[in-house]
Amino acid sequence: MWSNSVDKNLRERAEAVIPGGMYGHQSVRLLPDDYPQFFDRASGAYLWDVDGNRYIDFMCGYGPNLFGYGQPDIDAAYIDRMKQGDTMTGPAGLMVDLAEQMTALVTHADWAMFCKNGTDATTMAMMIARNHTRRKTIVLAKGAYHGAAPWCTPLRNGVVPSDRAHQIFYDYNSVESLEAAVREAGDDLAAIFASPIKHDTFVDQEDVDPAYARRARELCDETGALLIVDDVRAGLRLARDCSWARVGIEPDLSSWGKSIANGHPISALLGAEKARAAAATIYATGSYWFSAAPMAASLATLKMVRETDYLEHTQVLGERLRSGLNEAATRHGFALRQTGPAVMPLIMFDDDPGLGKGYLWNDALMKRGVYFHPWHNMFICAAMTEKDIDDTLQASDEAFKIVRDAGSIPPVEKLAVLSKLPNAD
Ligand code: PMP
Repeated sequence: MWSNSVDKNLRERAEAVIPGGMYGHQSVRLLPDDYPQFFDRASGAYLWDVDGNRYIDFMCGYGPNLFGYGQPDIDAAYIDRMKQGDTMTGPAGLMVDLAEQMTALVTHADWAMFCKNGTDATTMAMMIARNHTRRKTIVLAKGAYHGAAPWCTPLRNGVVPSDRAHQIFYDYNSVESLEAAVREAGDDLAAIFASPIKHDTFVDQEDVDPAYARRARELCDETGALLIVDDVRAGLRLARDCSWARVGIEPDLSSWGKSIANGHPISALLGAEKARAAAATIYATGSYWFSAAPMAASLATLKMVRETDYLEHTQVLGERLRSGLNEAATRHGFALRQTGPAVMPLIMFDDDPGLGKGYLWNDALMKRGVYFHPWHNMFICAAMTEKDIDDTLQASDEAFKIVRDAGSIPPVEKLAVLSKLPNAD
């Protein structure tokens, strides 16, 4: 029987010693009330909260879990390297191996730099583009997430206008809107910053329109600006290459993180030859950027990327989930909006502007051992099995019944704060 007394107690204690009880995207403040905040362990496709409830985890740590939590080969590589020397006065030799392997895997890349968080990589990308072009303006898609530094954090508290200077926004996938933004940048365009797909929160996801990706490439070639693809979230989930390789477009820079070491802390910026000199002359570093153990974990992860059918397996499972949920929804008289690639699904109810149905459904799933998210894309990991998907579908059947029996459901009150926050572009 699902229970949450340990979590409740920790949440109360956290209120006293952690600002707001929790911060950032791992705060459950904007999730259904009973969602657990604290977890105890994770293995394969599963996650256990501090009360011992087990979940099939469709958030995968918000992306890093690609091959399963605690994947034995990857963790053995990490642990062996940690025993030998991890954070040292300089990098281990395997940094070069990793740079060789990442540039061999990713078609557009001739060099690699390693850091810790996705934000490190996206921030370096911006600096390198500005250094390369000696121009200032960055053109970005409205609503796209590129990290939590002052130049890109979605909320404006603590951010001053100069942090956000020299940025122009366009609508993702719209050639017209992109062209207008580039026109507005005039002769000051340093970079077009693009997500590999539209994977914004609260709205339907969209795969990249090849015509838009092609136009972004042309506009950069015409103006001398750099094309950046932010593959921090989607990297290695859609392709064994940069995600835009699927549409035949090679960016000049791509940022990576999350899945590249299956949860061990490392991110990367990859670049093409033309940006090498600019990359070599920015100052970028961090105390833990050269740690060897996450690099060893990344090498083991890349081996699995090359040698297993994880990509095909996750696609098959994602499709099984998508079609099974559609079938169950129809049976219960609902229509779902399942958007984005099947391996990175966002699932919302049609006709649910206040997200009331979605919250009730997600809460019911959570209490039946399935961790879904009501407004952020989710992930399929390679450790999931057909049985996990079928168990999820069975739980969804009961969850649909609960929503159907609830009749008319009011909008989610806690989401009202979103419209009051100092927000967003
Ligand atoms: N870019 C994208 C597309 C992301 O999804 C994220 C993280 N969710 C980031 C950048 C920032 O990564 P990090 O949280 O590791 O700094």
